Amino acid sequence: MYRPINHGYIEAVIGPMYSGKSEELIRRLKRAKIAKQNVIVFKPQIDDRYSKDDVVSHSGDSINAIPISNSSDIYKFIDNKTQVVGIDEVQFFDVEIVDVAVDLADKGIRVIAAGLDMDFKGEPFGPTPRLLAMAEFVDKIQAICSVCGQPATRSQRLINGEPAKYDDPIIQVGAVESYEARCRKCHVVCK
Ligand code: ADP
Ligand code: ZN
Repeated sequence: MYRPINHGYIEAVIGPMYSGKSEELIRRLKRAKIAKQNVIVFKPQIDDRYSKDDVVSHSGDSINAIPISNSSDIYKFIDNKTQVVGIDEVQFFDVEIVDVAVDLADKGIRVIAAGLDMDFKGEPFGPTPRLLAMAEFVDKIQAICSVCGQPATRSQRLINGEPAKYDDPIIQVGAVESYEARCRKCHVVCK
Protein backbone atom coordinates (compact mmCIF):
# COMPACT_ATOMS: atom_id res chain seq x y z
CA MET A 1 0.00 0.00 0.00
CA TYR A 2 1.64 3.24 -1.14
CA ARG A 3 1.35 6.28 1.10
CA PRO A 4 2.54 9.87 0.63
CA ILE A 5 5.99 10.60 2.06
CA ASN A 6 6.74 13.65 4.22
CA HIS A 7 3.10 14.60 4.16
CA GLY A 8 0.62 14.33 7.02
CA TYR A 9 -2.51 12.21 6.89
CA ILE A 10 -4.78 9.99 9.01
CA GLU A 11 -5.16 6.22 8.65
CA ALA A 12 -7.94 4.48 10.57
CA VAL A 13 -8.07 0.74 11.22
CA ILE A 14 -11.48 -0.26 12.55
CA GLY A 15 -13.61 -3.32 13.16
CA PRO A 16 -14.98 -5.51 15.98
CA MET A 17 -13.01 -7.16 18.77
CA TYR A 18 -10.54 -9.84 17.57
CA SER A 19 -10.51 -8.47 14.02
CA GLY A 20 -6.77 -7.80 14.23
CA LYS A 21 -6.81 -4.03 14.71
CA SER A 22 -3.96 -4.03 17.24
CA GLU A 23 -2.05 -6.54 15.12
CA GLU A 24 -2.39 -4.30 12.05
CA LEU A 25 -1.51 -1.16 14.01
CA ILE A 26 1.60 -2.85 15.43
CA ARG A 27 2.56 -4.12 11.96
CA ARG A 28 2.36 -0.63 10.45
CA LEU A 29 4.24 0.97 13.34
CA LYS A 30 7.01 -1.65 13.27
CA ARG A 31 7.46 -1.09 9.54
CA ALA A 32 7.70 2.66 10.12
CA LYS A 33 10.41 1.98 12.71
CA ILE A 34 12.27 -0.22 10.21
CA ALA A 35 12.12 2.80 7.87
CA LYS A 36 13.86 4.74 10.70
CA GLN A 37 10.85 6.95 11.23
CA ASN A 38 10.40 8.64 14.57
CA VAL A 39 7.40 6.75 16.00
CA ILE A 40 5.37 7.29 19.18
CA VAL A 41 2.35 5.27 20.34
CA PHE A 42 -0.51 6.17 22.68
CA LYS A 43 -3.34 4.27 24.30
CA PRO A 44 -6.08 5.30 26.72
CA GLN A 45 -5.19 4.99 30.39
CA ILE A 46 -8.20 2.73 31.08
CA ASP A 47 -7.11 -0.06 28.78
CA ASP A 48 -4.73 -2.28 30.73
CA ARG A 49 -5.86 -5.50 29.09
CA TYR A 50 -2.46 -7.21 29.26
CA SER A 51 0.18 -4.63 29.90
CA LYS A 52 0.20 -1.09 31.24
CA ASP A 53 2.75 0.32 28.82
CA ASP A 54 2.29 -1.76 25.68
CA VAL A 55 -0.20 -2.19 22.89
CA VAL A 56 -0.63 -5.97 22.88
CA SER A 57 -2.60 -7.95 20.30
CA HIS A 58 -4.56 -11.11 21.09
CA SER A 59 -1.92 -13.03 19.16
CA GLY A 60 0.84 -11.71 21.43
CA ASP A 61 2.57 -9.01 19.31
CA SER A 62 3.37 -5.86 21.20
CA ILE A 63 4.81 -2.37 20.91
CA ASN A 64 5.59 0.11 23.64
CA ALA A 65 2.87 2.73 24.18
CA ILE A 66 2.26 5.67 26.49
CA PRO A 67 -1.03 5.49 28.45
CA ILE A 68 -2.79 8.89 28.49
CA SER A 69 -6.08 10.07 30.00
CA ASN A 70 -6.83 13.04 27.73
CA SER A 71 -6.22 13.36 24.04
CA SER A 72 -4.42 16.68 24.52
CA ASP A 73 -1.77 14.82 26.61
CA ILE A 74 -0.32 13.75 23.25
CA TYR A 75 1.19 17.23 22.89
CA LYS A 76 3.33 16.66 25.99
CA PHE A 77 5.15 13.80 24.26
CA ILE A 78 5.59 14.84 20.65
CA ASP A 79 8.15 17.26 19.23
CA ASN A 80 9.23 18.46 15.82
CA LYS A 81 11.08 15.17 15.21
CA THR A 82 7.90 13.08 15.53
CA GLN A 83 6.93 11.56 12.18
CA VAL A 84 4.41 8.84 13.04
CA VAL A 85 1.82 8.77 15.84
CA GLY A 86 -0.03 5.53 16.63
CA ILE A 87 -3.21 5.48 18.73
CA ASP A 88 -4.86 2.26 19.91
CA GLU A 89 -8.39 1.82 21.34
CA VAL A 90 -9.28 5.21 19.92
CA GLN A 91 -12.98 4.69 20.77
CA PHE A 92 -12.23 5.22 24.48
CA PHE A 93 -10.87 8.73 23.98
CA ASP A 94 -12.83 11.95 24.24
CA VAL A 95 -14.06 13.32 20.89
CA GLU A 96 -11.19 15.88 20.91
CA ILE A 97 -8.93 13.03 19.80
CA VAL A 98 -10.21 13.72 16.28
CA ASP A 99 -9.15 17.38 16.44
CA VAL A 100 -5.75 16.31 17.75
CA ALA A 101 -5.36 13.76 14.92
CA VAL A 102 -6.33 16.40 12.34
CA ASP A 103 -3.93 18.92 13.85
CA LEU A 104 -1.06 16.41 13.84
CA ALA A 105 -1.78 15.48 10.22
CA ASP A 106 -1.84 19.19 9.33
CA LYS A 107 1.60 19.45 10.92
CA GLY A 108 2.89 16.73 8.58
CA ILE A 109 2.59 13.72 10.90
CA ARG A 110 1.29 10.30 9.80
CA VAL A 111 -1.42 9.37 12.31
CA ILE A 112 -2.52 5.72 12.52
CA ALA A 113 -5.53 5.15 14.77
CA ALA A 114 -7.09 1.77 15.56
CA GLY A 115 -10.34 1.12 17.39
CA LEU A 116 -13.83 -0.26 17.56
CA ASP A 117 -16.32 1.15 15.07
CA MET A 118 -19.36 -0.14 17.02
CA ASP A 119 -20.12 -0.88 20.66
CA PHE A 120 -21.67 -4.16 21.83
CA LYS A 121 -25.10 -2.83 20.86
CA GLY A 122 -23.95 -2.39 17.27
CA GLU A 123 -24.07 1.41 17.56
CA PRO A 124 -21.32 3.85 16.49
CA PHE A 125 -18.68 4.06 19.22
CA GLY A 126 -17.56 7.41 20.68
CA PRO A 127 -15.22 9.46 18.48
CA THR A 128 -14.73 6.73 15.83
CA PRO A 129 -17.43 7.86 13.34
CA ARG A 130 -16.01 11.40 13.25
CA LEU A 131 -12.50 10.06 12.91
CA LEU A 132 -13.55 7.97 9.91
CA ALA A 133 -15.08 11.02 8.25
CA MET A 134 -11.84 12.97 8.67
CA ALA A 135 -9.36 10.19 7.80
CA GLU A 136 -7.69 9.89 4.40
CA PHE A 137 -7.51 6.10 4.59
CA VAL A 138 -9.91 3.72 6.32
CA ASP A 139 -9.51 -0.04 6.63
CA LYS A 140 -12.53 -1.81 8.06
CA ILE A 141 -11.45 -5.33 8.97
CA GLN A 142 -13.40 -8.39 10.12
CA ALA A 143 -12.90 -11.11 12.72
CA ILE A 144 -14.33 -14.63 12.48
CA CYS A 145 -17.81 -15.20 13.92
CA SER A 146 -17.52 -17.45 16.99
CA VAL A 147 -20.93 -19.00 16.19
CA CYS A 148 -20.97 -19.65 12.43
CA GLY A 149 -17.44 -18.97 11.12
CA GLN A 150 -18.52 -16.19 8.71
CA PRO A 151 -16.73 -12.81 8.72
CA ALA A 152 -17.60 -11.05 12.00
CA THR A 153 -18.34 -7.33 12.05
CA ARG A 154 -19.73 -7.02 15.58
CA SER A 155 -18.65 -7.50 19.19
CA GLN A 156 -20.98 -9.71 21.23
CA ARG A 157 -21.11 -8.88 24.92
CA LEU A 158 -21.93 -11.85 27.15
CA ILE A 159 -22.87 -11.72 30.82
CA ASN A 160 -22.57 -15.05 32.58
CA GLY A 161 -22.48 -16.59 29.09
CA GLU A 162 -25.75 -14.99 27.93
CA PRO A 163 -26.14 -12.10 25.45
CA ALA A 164 -26.06 -8.80 27.32
CA LYS A 165 -29.18 -6.64 27.33
CA TYR A 166 -29.22 -3.21 25.69
CA ASP A 167 -29.46 -1.46 29.07
CA ASP A 168 -27.09 -3.68 31.06
CA PRO A 169 -24.73 -1.50 33.10
CA ILE A 170 -21.17 -1.15 31.84
CA ILE A 171 -19.85 -2.77 35.01
CA GLN A 172 -21.85 -5.50 36.74
CA VAL A 173 -20.51 -6.47 40.13
CA GLY A 174 -20.15 -10.23 40.56
CA ALA A 175 -21.05 -11.05 36.95
CA VAL A 176 -18.67 -12.75 34.53
CA GLU A 177 -18.44 -10.58 31.45
CA SER A 178 -16.91 -11.68 28.17
CA TYR A 179 -16.86 -10.68 24.52
CA GLU A 180 -16.73 -12.57 21.27
CA ALA A 181 -16.72 -11.64 17.59
CA ARG A 182 -19.97 -12.30 15.71
CA CYS A 183 -21.52 -11.66 12.29
CA ARG A 184 -24.65 -9.55 11.82
CA LYS A 185 -26.85 -12.67 11.85
CA CYS A 186 -25.46 -14.19 15.07
CA HIS A 187 -25.08 -10.90 16.97
CA VAL A 188 -27.74 -10.65 19.69
CA VAL A 189 -28.76 -7.58 21.70
CA CYS A 190 -31.79 -8.21 23.92
CA LYS A 191 -33.93 -5.14 24.47
P1 ADP B 1 -8.29 -6.51 17.99
O1 ADP B 1 -7.26 -5.46 18.31
O2 ADP B 1 -9.10 -6.18 16.76
O3 ADP B 1 -9.16 -6.90 19.17
P2 ADP B 1 -6.03 -8.29 17.94
O4 ADP B 1 -5.08 -7.70 16.94
O5 ADP B 1 -5.74 -8.05 19.39
O6 ADP B 1 -7.52 -7.84 17.56
O7 ADP B 1 -6.11 -9.88 17.79
C1 ADP B 1 -6.29 -10.53 16.55
C2 ADP B 1 -5.95 -12.01 16.76
O8 ADP B 1 -6.91 -12.59 17.63
C3 ADP B 1 -6.01 -12.87 15.52
O9 ADP B 1 -4.83 -12.83 14.76
C4 ADP B 1 -6.24 -14.26 16.09
O10 ADP B 1 -5.00 -14.85 16.44
C5 ADP B 1 -6.97 -14.00 17.41
N1 ADP B 1 -8.41 -14.35 17.43
C6 ADP B 1 -9.06 -14.85 18.51
N2 ADP B 1 -10.38 -15.01 18.26
C7 ADP B 1 -10.59 -14.60 16.99
C8 ADP B 1 -11.76 -14.49 16.14
N3 ADP B 1 -12.99 -14.84 16.57
N4 ADP B 1 -11.58 -13.99 14.90
C9 ADP B 1 -10.36 -13.64 14.47
N5 ADP B 1 -9.24 -13.72 15.21
C10 ADP B 1 -9.33 -14.18 16.46
ZN1 ZN C 1 -22.31 -15.79 12.57
